Amino acid sequence: VPRILDGKWVRDQILAELRPRVAKLPRPPGLAVVLAGHNPASEIYVRNKVKACQELGIRSEKLTPPETVTTAEMLEIVDSLNRRPEIDGILVQMPLPSQTDARRVLDAVDPDKDVDGFHPLNAGRLAGGQPGPRPCTPSGVMQMLRRYEIPVAGRRAVIVGRSDIVGKPMAMLLLHAHATVTICHSRTSNLEEECRRADILVAAMGRPALVRGSFVQPGATVIDVGINRVTDPAQAARIFASAPERLREFESKGSVLVGDAHPVEIPSAAGAYTPVPGGVGPLTIAMLMSNTVDAAARRLGV
Ligand code: NDP
Repeated sequence: VPRILDGKWVRDQILAELRPRVAKLPRPPGLAVVLAGHNPASEIYVRNKVKACQELGIRSEKLTPPETVTTAEMLEIVDSLNRRPEIDGILVQMPLPSQTDARRVLDAVDPDKDVDGFHPLNAGRLAGGQPGPRPCTPSGVMQMLRRYEIPVAGRRAVIVGRSDIVGKPMAMLLLHAHATVTICHSRTSNLEEECRRADILVAAMGRPALVRGSFVQPGATVIDVGINRVTDPAQAARIFASAPERLREFESKGSVLVGDAHPVEIPSAAGAYTPVPGGVGPLTIAMLMSNTVDAAARRLGV
């Protein structure tokens, strides 16, 4: 029987460990979230982040520049947050409106307040194995592996996806944990064969159900980072052909969340796997909270 890796269980442990650390600080940690424009998905993410802060005793502040914001205005917002002593963490929610230069805005965040770990200095610290904030989703995956005691050292890890947010930092973290790491992407010539060599397979490409049961070595751990909302009835019918109850869920709601790993085939092929939803998803915000508490503790010298 494969093990289901429960992201909520891991998240609750992480948050429970943060609570006493927050209580010991001379003042509450402060997180500023900048949400530009009106992206519905971003609005949900930000709402969940603000809620997590409230539950943990982190003071959060939401700034909402309009859809028409310029790069210069975004830089001004970031600069004023950089200067404020009671703000420990700054999160610029992506994607930014298309007329802005997202890279310039992210690069302007004070690296010590960069709770997303996206600043080039922090990417360099990660590459060099120096302390610093790590990108939240991949560090959540490491927490999942650690807390379920899935061995990493000496194992073969294959990551599908090479984004700066997930794939690349994931590869670095697994490398530092002594895995033998392969990174695959859209030009990889035999994806299935590469994946089948993995003891730990991380799917992070944003392609619903692309990783099939045949991609998985028996007993391997499959970590599914993908979150895709499937709305096409034909696609849902294909994916859930042998899972009528999930297909009915699609029919009643008109959409269904599917990871990058096949939700019906992976559970019978893998030794352990993360479900979607309820796997990697809950960990991203937990690690944002963790990075914020770390930043506050560092800035307050405790
Ligand atoms: P990006 O779109 O930035 O990157 C996707 C990567 O996957 C690229 O490197 C791309 O390759 C690769 N890829 C795309 N199609 C294929 C294919 N057919 N075969 C092999 N590789 C392919 O996505 P992100 O990294 O930002 O996100 C990945 C997924 O994770 C998404 O579903 C996203 O929603 C989810 N996500 C979940 C989070 C969470 O909290 N759980 C947080 C962040 C993301 P190439 O470089 O060659 O184009």
